[in-house]
Amino acid sequence: MTQLLTPGDGRKGPATATGAVATPVQTEPPGDVFVALDTSPRGLTAADAVARRGRYGPNELPRARSRGLWRQLAAQFTDLFAVVLLVASAITFLAYALQPSQDVGTFRLAVAILGVVLLNASIGFAQEYSAERTAQSLQAMVPHTCRVLRDGERQDLPAHELVPGDVVVLEAGDAVSADCRLVEAHEVSVNNAALTGESDAVGRTGEPVAAGPLLEARNCVFMGTDVVAGSAKAVVFATGAATEFGRIFRLAAAAPRQKTPLQLQVSSMARRVAGVALAIGAGLFAVRVPTGQPFVETFVFALGVMVALVPEGLPATLSVSLAIGVRRMARRHALVKKLLAVEALGSTTVVCTDKTGTLTQAEMTITQVWSGGASHPVSGVGYAPVGEVTDAAPVRELLRAAALCCNARLVPPAGTGRLPRSGREGWRVLGDSTEGALLVVAEKGGIDPAAEEARAPRVAEHPFDSVRKLMSTVHGTTDGDSYRAYVKGAPQELLARCTDIDWNGERRPLTDELRAEVIETNDALASQGLRVLAVGWRPVSGPHPTQDGAESGLTLLGLVGMLDPPRAEVSDAVDACRRAGIRIVMVTGDHPLTAEAVARRVGIVRQAAPAVVTGASLDAMNDDALDGLLAEPAELLLCRVSPEHKMRVVTALQRRGEVVAVTGDGANDAPALKHADIGVAMGASGTDVARESAVMVLLDDSFASIATAVRLGRSVYQNIRKFLIYLFSHNIAELVPILAATFAGFPLVPITAVQILAIDLGSDVLPALALGAEPPEPDVMDRPPRSRRDRLFSAGVMGRILFLGGIQALGVCAVFFWHIHASGIPYSHFTEDNAVYREAITMVQAGIVVSQFFNALAVRTDRQSVFRIGLLSNPWLLAAGCFGIGLMAAISYLPALRAVFNTAPLAAADWAVLAGFGVLLLAAEESRKWWLRRHRSGNRRGGVRCE
Ligand code: ATP
Repeated sequence: MTQLLTPGDGRKGPATATGAVATPVQTEPPGDVFVALDTSPRGLTAADAVARRGRYGPNELPRARSRGLWRQLAAQFTDLFAVVLLVASAITFLAYALQPSQDVGTFRLAVAILGVVLLNASIGFAQEYSAERTAQSLQAMVPHTCRVLRDGERQDLPAHELVPGDVVVLEAGDAVSADCRLVEAHEVSVNNAALTGESDAVGRTGEPVAAGPLLEARNCVFMGTDVVAGSAKAVVFATGAATEFGRIFRLAAAAPRQKTPLQLQVSSMARRVAGVALAIGAGLFAVRVPTGQPFVETFVFALGVMVALVPEGLPATLSVSLAIGVRRMARRHALVKKLLAVEALGSTTVVCTDKTGTLTQAEMTITQVWSGGASHPVSGVGYAPVGEVTDAAPVRELLRAAALCCNARLVPPAGTGRLPRSGREGWRVLGDSTEGALLVVAEKGGIDPAAEEARAPRVAEHPFDSVRKLMSTVHGTTDGDSYRAYVKGAPQELLARCTDIDWNGERRPLTDELRAEVIETNDALASQGLRVLAVGWRPVSGPHPTQDGAESGLTLLGLVGMLDPPRAEVSDAVDACRRAGIRIVMVTGDHPLTAEAVARRVGIVRQAAPAVVTGASLDAMNDDALDGLLAEPAELLLCRVSPEHKMRVVTALQRRGEVVAVTGDGANDAPALKHADIGVAMGASGTDVARESAVMVLLDDSFASIATAVRLGRSVYQNIRKFLIYLFSHNIAELVPILAATFAGFPLVPITAVQILAIDLGSDVLPALALGAEPPEPDVMDRPPRSRRDRLFSAGVMGRILFLGGIQALGVCAVFFWHIHASGIPYSHFTEDNAVYREAITMVQAGIVVSQFFNALAVRTDRQSVFRIGLLSNPWLLAAGCFGIGLMAAISYLPALRAVFNTAPLAAADWAVLAGFGVLLLAAEESRKWWLRRHRSGNRRGGVRCE
């Protein structure tokens, strides 16, 4: 990690790789920059690169120090709940010390509360640690690569392999990976916001500039910044910590993790419940003291109940559940960078999707070439240059011009070299797939792009951008000082800049009839779903014409039509989105007819007349008209649009209250990606800038992965509701018997605080976690999206908590009082040592544990019968439930534990009665779901919300 040359800001630099004295990079002409950095326009040799890597180390910044493990652990004890519990434990210890009898039960309670704090701290710590590891591993899944020349060959390399002296190729959308001096620049501008805070794009040049502060040198680009337009070649002069970014990079602790609205909702709910628990504890204390119960014991009892009712583990369980969702999505090729996205995905109502690569395979094959009024079909598929152009002679100039006007490179399968041209498999394109197809068709037509480039070297370029939809390059000719501009792009745009047309080698004025014929041909190709490009040229007077000078007064050479087959998995995903009530809007820069043909193939368009709106007509619409358009239920295709249009549509949809997911790959998609509820970037083909702006990255670029992510996002939300219902309903079963006994005048409690803690810690935590990991329910995509306003604790959820908790409470009250009454002993004769009382409280504890086992099964589905998804389909849940019952059995049968919990051994018949109550609970819940299915199946389309 070093800087070879220092700027002219007074700082003295170290010796260069060769030991030469450092000189400022920005003042040298490009040729001298190569010499000074001991490299060449062909880049470093592989051996030199290895040697420099050994000398300077990897191009990496020192890792941001994350909080030390001890500090992370300590932080768990400063959280509000932990503090409340620690105080409660301290009070209980104090009460124990103050009690004249030194009741061992009080001591146990104090220890149990401490146990709760420790358990929660460990869960919280483990969760935080694993979330950090997940974030790191997810980051590693989207490697940061850059284009480098090594031994004269262009290669894609991981950015950490860059060394000083490397020659890099930069294009719009690239993140700059090291500090570099530009040696060739074509309309380049960069965004230096990461370094200077200035977010406006600033132009760059390849020419020398006057000495001055390095950051202000207009011929340098820096690590951490982005190329927003143009293309360039540059030589690396500083890597890793020696870069400007490295200098200002703070070794500060990782940024604080933000809480999502869902997490905030749960935290605030947990706090409210804690408040209610406190009130109940105080209430119990107030009711029991006047009945003559000992003061300190009653206080300790009330404190215990309060602690038991506090949902301490809830925030941690929630975070675990969200993290599981993130990991599942990553396994299905959707990397979620912020937990917020998991939540938003579940309520997505509109997906605005690109076409190329997302709906299609982005493997372009030119199937038609048109020139001089004649079509020339092309054989062969994919990127292997195997096949031929029918009657190629008249279209060679078109193919040559198109190939010269390309930045992509065709890469033969490893180890085969260029010749022989055998085998279709394994040919790849480095760069734009549209350009890859042009290189392939040129070869099929007998053109050797490399030889053509050598004959007519490129001297200037006006890079492609998706607003202009054109690209042009300027080439010298062998005869010396004449130059030609070759232009390719969207036919409509290119045709508007043509004055002539090449008609079988003869230049003719582009009359209205000829223009009409070209448009007709374009439409015919587009309506077959082909992407069409037009190619033209013009002579130019010098090597550096302006963009307008190069791209006007053109002679049209002809058209090419390329096929990009739809991805096989997309039709099913589109179908799933339809059933899920999610609207899909195709947003493409392509021709309306191409867009419609592809949309029909993948099922986005089914109606005879979808609404097809072009960028130009969007420009003519005011916001009201746009809102009106979006309000119509018609299938919508937005074609020939630019990223600005995309941004406008996203904003308009959000105005209508929609939750919008939008895909993007280009640098100027960044605003829309940031603005959308879920910005989705392409991992395989997208630019670094798009990936940085998005909250979700699709590793395989496929639309199907968005649908999968929505499905998983919905299920995460459902799972959270499941464990909330599970956890809160048993609180009712713990509380009601205590209240009932208090009001019935029974002198003792039907369940002690230590028993309640044993339930909360022993039998409830694991099933709650297992519920958080439930696989999606089969009908999760058969419901309309959840409303954004929908609260986690909806009336439906509260109702279910009361329903299930009520049944559990009735069951345990019944077993307790039945047991007490059956003994015939009057209430006032009961003491803690009484065998019947010990049996009765054991029945209550076991009753809650057993009914929670059935409750966990019952809450697994919303409305489906749990038998339909299979009782055994979540083995973790069964294992967690069995563990809880096993623990209860140990508490009932092991003498040591019996002494701690004041319990008694249960008979087989007792367990049978409890299991019977559990089955009743499951049956009641199944009947409720059956009733729901019967009454709501009719109006499913009518907007039943996910509950
Ligand atoms: P899609 O939705 O299919 O992904 P897009 O929105 O990415 O399309 P752009 O890549 O902006 O569309 O392309 C818009 C139009 O510009 C294309 O239809 C094509 O005619 C033309 N075009 C695309 N790539 C190039 C290129 N490299 N050089 C010149 N013209 C191009």
